Amino acid sequence: MKAVAVYPGQKNSVHLEDIPRPDINSVPAGRGVLVRVLKVGVDATDKEINEALYGNAPPGCNYLVLGHESFGVVEEVGENVQRVKPGDFVTATVRRPGGSIYDRIGTYDMTSEETYYERGINLLHGFLTEYYVDDEDYIVKVPPGLKHLHVLMEPMSCAAKAVHQAYEVQRRMKVWRPETAFVLGAGQIGLLTTLILKLRGLKVYTIARGKPPSLKSEIVEGLEATYVSTADTPLDELARQAGKADLIVDATGSSQIAFDAMKALGHNGVLVWTSITGGDRNVDIPSDKINLDWVLGNKLLLGSVNANREHFESGIKDLALGEVMYPGVIEKILTTPVNGLDKFQDVMKLLVEDSTALKVYVNVADE
Ligand code: BGC
Ligand code: ZN
Repeated sequence: MKAVAVYPGQKNSVHLEDIPRPDINSVPAGRGVLVRVLKVGVDATDKEINEALYGNAPPGCNYLVLGHESFGVVEEVGENVQRVKPGDFVTATVRRPGGSIYDRIGTYDMTSEETYYERGINLLHGFLTEYYVDDEDYIVKVPPGLKHLHVLMEPMSCAAKAVHQAYEVQRRMKVWRPETAFVLGAGQIGLLTTLILKLRGLKVYTIARGKPPSLKSEIVEGLEATYVSTADTPLDELARQAGKADLIVDATGSSQIAFDAMKALGHNGVLVWTSITGGDRNVDIPSDKINLDWVLGNKLLLGSVNANREHFESGIKDLALGEVMYPGVIEKILTTPVNGLDKFQDVMKLLVEDSTALKVYVNVADE
């Protein structure tokens, strides 16, 4: 079967690879699920992998099959599979467990080991192909009423984890009643984070470079959040006008902005970093000022990566609630379909060059 792959470490090596169709019995104990792939999303991580800034092939293999944002339909299940049946729509988690205690209790997103295993990213093949097989532990059912949001399940899980972690760490406050959030970046993670925080009742400012009106500002306003363009209002100006934020989530992909955000956080607040920056950029930061401010304000910086099954499930619930609260808004993220795995060159081109594409995804097969 066809698969879109790269040679990790080799720039712009995206190509079509011919790989064997997976066998459901490759997962032991009758726990295998065979999924026919319908759609796969790509994001900045895939771009960085194709630029040879990030990612590794499975041991003993010279290529890595891309694709970690999957949506498919169950074709066949092993005899002991309980959670899904043929015909169900599903997505799959991305990380697979290593050996740490966190891995062994299903929280592989919190592995304490340096080596991590991620399908389509690091040491494991991904989903940009026709079929895949996995243990039912990693297969998450998507309600048929959300199938129009297909490839957003995985990015939503990462947003859900980031927000969930922020609330978890803020238990240090005994009472934490966040009122204002700044979401930096209006890409898919920024927009989905905006949704989650709106559903939690916060006043949300979603901040991006582009001037409104734009699709991004339309989606932000559709979620009843406030769109702020840094071209009109730089972040420190916003902090002066609106007050510093109780919670900031950075999803810009820029380490510079991740550090800049430290100046806009209020006392007792938490700043969550979610960007994967595979490059090696250096920036100057006002370290004395930040250090003083952060100590005097009991501020917290939190990194958040990946997501486990619970985050997928809570993200899916929030997408369902979002569809009821803000009907038709979230699907506007799904801007840019590409038909067929053969069009892998178009996929990468759109990902790199089309700044109006909020979400590039591949229609692999029809339902
Ligand atoms: C993926 C995550 C992954 C992270 C780091 C992101 O693009 O969505 O699942 O953990 O990259 O590799
Ligand atoms: Zn991703």
